[in-house]
Amino acid sequence: MLKDNLKNVEERVQEACDRAGRKREEVTLIAVSKTKPIEMLQEIYDENIRDFGENKVQELCDKIEKMPKDIKWHMIGHLQRNKVKYIVGQVALIHSVDSYRLAEEINIQAKKKNIIVPILVEVNIAHEESKFGISEEDAIQLVEEIAELENVRIKGLMTIAPYVENAEDNRLYFRKIKDLSVDIAAKNIDNVSMEILSMGMTGDYEVAIEEGATMVRVGTGIFGARNYNKQ
Ligand SMILES: *Cc1c(COP(=O)(O)O)cnc(C)c1O
Repeated sequence: MLKDNLKNVEERVQEACDRAGRKREEVTLIAVSKTKPIEMLQEIYDENIRDFGENKVQELCDKIEKMPKDIKWHMIGHLQRNKVKYIVGQVALIHSVDSYRLAEEINIQAKKKNIIVPILVEVNIAHEESKFGISEEDAIQLVEEIAELENVRIKGLMTIAPYVENAEDNRLYFRKIKDLSVDIAAKNIDNVSMEILSMGMTGDYEVAIEEGATMVRVGTGIFGARNYNKQ
């Protein structure tokens, strides 16, 4: 039962907050519902979850249309510039901005709609070839450039840590990105805040919370394993 999965995740989130001396309200649990059917999302919605994460534009838009309007949708997957127009104004937060050109396109679409779009800069903290995201070394410069765009607001950083058997192996990465966010915050760049740190997935969200995550993105732990063949 999804309800039991969620309860288990909620308990573990609370325990991680307790260990770190943090308040539960400091951490938003995002239910990552990619590949999962509407009925399953509804089940989790009925348990009072209002933050959902998706990684594909088409699927995200379909689900936005079918689900209740008070949901905060999070775009967490790699975003192509030609698809930006479909999600600007539809999502609460875009987690996966890793280039100036992408931010520029978000800015153009936001201007058209006369809105300000909150985004996170995705950092590839472990330098994994297979992953998107800007390197830690280039992050500050990218933040400074994007900060000039009028209709985009940087709210923090996002990272996808490596897949590991032992979550402890990612602690150092989470700590590194927290340090980076503190460094950026200290620069007091206009229009930039570092209030959000989106890190931690099913395998490592507890460690991420201990290291300062304010948003954790949990898919498998809530909805069960994904089957990419079926759909
Ligand atoms: C799929 C995905 C998640 C959730 O992964 P789980 O291991 O199933 O919790 C989190 N973040 C991103 C960016 C994802 O694509």
